[in-house]
Amino acid sequence: MGRMISIASGKGGTGKTTTTANLAIALGKLGKKVCAVDADLTMANLSLHFGLDDAGKTIHDVLIEGGDIREAVHPTKYELVYVVPAAVDWEHVAKADPRELPEVIPKLKNDFDYVLIDCPAGLQIDAMSAMLSGEEIILVTNPEIASISDTMKVGLVLKKAGREILGFVLNRYGKNKNDIPPEAAEEVMEFPLLAVIPEDPEVREATLEGIPVVAYNPESKATKAFFELAEKLVRME
Ligand code: ADP
Ligand code: MG
Repeated sequence: MGRMISIASGKGGTGKTTTTANLAIALGKLGKKVCAVDADLTMANLSLHFGLDDAGKTIHDVLIEGGDIREAVHPTKYELVYVVPAAVDWEHVAKADPRELPEVIPKLKNDFDYVLIDCPAGLQIDAMSAMLSGEEIILVTNPEIASISDTMKVGLVLKKAGREILGFVLNRYGKNKNDIPPEAAEEVMEFPLLAVIPEDPEVREATLEGIPVVAYNPESKATKAFFELAEKLVRME
């Protein structure tokens, strides 16, 4: 029985998809069988991080046709790491009903050690449905007060809904002089700080190549931080 972990945030662009892809590969390298699910049905881009272009069956096909999500699981070039991609064309996006995600995604639980669910931002129905498909939650925020308070809001709603909030990832730290430091962020947040991922130009460089940074450069600062996060999750098992 695997862990079902939703990767969530208040605002878009905090680094949820980047965290999903890198954490998946880091957990794979630690010997865990992982499935990363693109549950951001309208702004899907998880496949890009894995360098998959036409991936075949998508989560949209499953939602539209009513099939089993296990038919939309695709291997990646990383050992033990699998992906459920999403469609990007409007026709699929318009037809798929996100409210069915909490029925569809949990079918993966028995096949993997970790299912990481890359969610849309916010508290709209598409985001709520994706986030509630998981049992545990990792929040991703940037070191700015608006990002932190919106992400905390999401965490409190999910906690009320009975999900276990593992804590938050402070991503892109060190980009600006007035970034909120980790200790202060943790004080505001009410949830534990899981990891600080530094602002690292190699993250973008790697993504452009279709290779998450943990595979692109094992020595980069962000890689080390993603591995620390993965190790922490394994210790929490
Ligand atoms: P989200 O999925 O939350 O919308 P993304 O993962 O797509 O966010 O990240 C948004 C942008 O920020 C991307 O261009 C990504 O490359 C960049 N980014 C994310 N994390 C970092 C980081 N630690 N350092 C530098 N750039 C980052
Ligand atoms: Mg995203």
